[in-house]
Amino acid sequence: MTDIKSMTVEEIKEVMKQVGEKPFRAKQIYSWLHEHQAASWEEMNNLPKSLKDKLREDYPIVCVEKVDEQISKQDGTRKYLFRLSDGNVIESVLMKYKHGNSVCISSQVGCRMGCRFCASTLGGLTRNLLASEMLDQIYRIQVMTGERVSNVVVMGTGEPLDNYENLLRFIHILTEEGGLHISQRNLTVSTCGLVPKIRELASEKLQMTLALSLHAPNDVKRQELMPIARRYSMDEVLEACRYYFEQTGRRITFEYSLVAGVNDSEIDAEQLAGKIRGINCHVNLIPVNPIKERDFIRSTHQAVLKFKNQLEKYGINVTIRREMGSDIDGACGQLRKSYIDKTESEN
Ligand code: SAH
Repeated sequence: MTDIKSMTVEEIKEVMKQVGEKPFRAKQIYSWLHEHQAASWEEMNNLPKSLKDKLREDYPIVCVEKVDEQISKQDGTRKYLFRLSDGNVIESVLMKYKHGNSVCISSQVGCRMGCRFCASTLGGLTRNLLASEMLDQIYRIQVMTGERVSNVVVMGTGEPLDNYENLLRFIHILTEEGGLHISQRNLTVSTCGLVPKIRELASEKLQMTLALSLHAPNDVKRQELMPIARRYSMDEVLEACRYYFEQTGRRITFEYSLVAGVNDSEIDAEQLAGKIRGINCHVNLIPVNPIKERDFIRSTHQAVLKFKNQLEKYGINVTIRREMGSDIDGACGQLRKSYIDKTESEN
């Protein structure tokens, strides 16, 4: 590996050994990369020029580069389109809340999970993101806005547990001392439900929040919306969530996108309550963001409230996702998609 931004201090120490430098340089380099979010070797002004000359060629500093930015007039939410070193583009979002700034990052270029309502998966998976590319979405946003990021959600394009090794590397560098040092409690990773990976993640005993994209009250309906549901039954997924709670003590978030006439009836709510009862959880209702490639319609506000009340009758914690930046995007993955469609039609 030559991607120095994805390396731990120990790994950078190994590099120092290989190039005949003192081990203490590793900590300095790590601090430049992760505490100061340096984008080049030039910025690291307490390192000798001879060292930088040695490393510049073989250990390039991976950065993402802003190609577009949209700012919501309603609430200041910012959407970024970033270019990677190989020319691929990804999107990230900065949301400002009273309790702090939250960044939503992508974990893959595209996605292969095929959820029916999702724009990010329409073109399939191109590749996994490196840990450095996940980190740098946050770093560039923090540097550009001058605002401290306190919360991170891995809910952008991609299935994070389908990029497991890089995700873990990312989590460690993001939350450990010597970098941004974001509390694991302020990190949420969202998955469509890769059961073996949820179990593996549980055994890491991290203090982050796991969000599970449920979106349906039974297997038949879930399979219609999410191809992954054909691989793992709802019972298996929910069992893995229970295990995650047992191992970590962290309450699970269930995400449920409401689609009119598909999964938003009273019976759906009741069935869902029956399924998740007894799990230490919280349900986040998201009125679906319609994408033009599909004819899903979002549930009415009334239907959303009714659904919420129904779940609450069973003692389940429910919130309705506050919509941020609805004037700048449309559904997740759409900024990237419209950029790709546009550049393709120009060529
Ligand atoms: N692959 C991960 C994370 C990406 S998406 C996962 O599946 O959880 C983050 C959340 O947004 C998921 O719950 C996803 O199902 C949901 N989502 C995707 N497209 C959506 C849309 N058009 N409307 C509402 N929610 C959507």
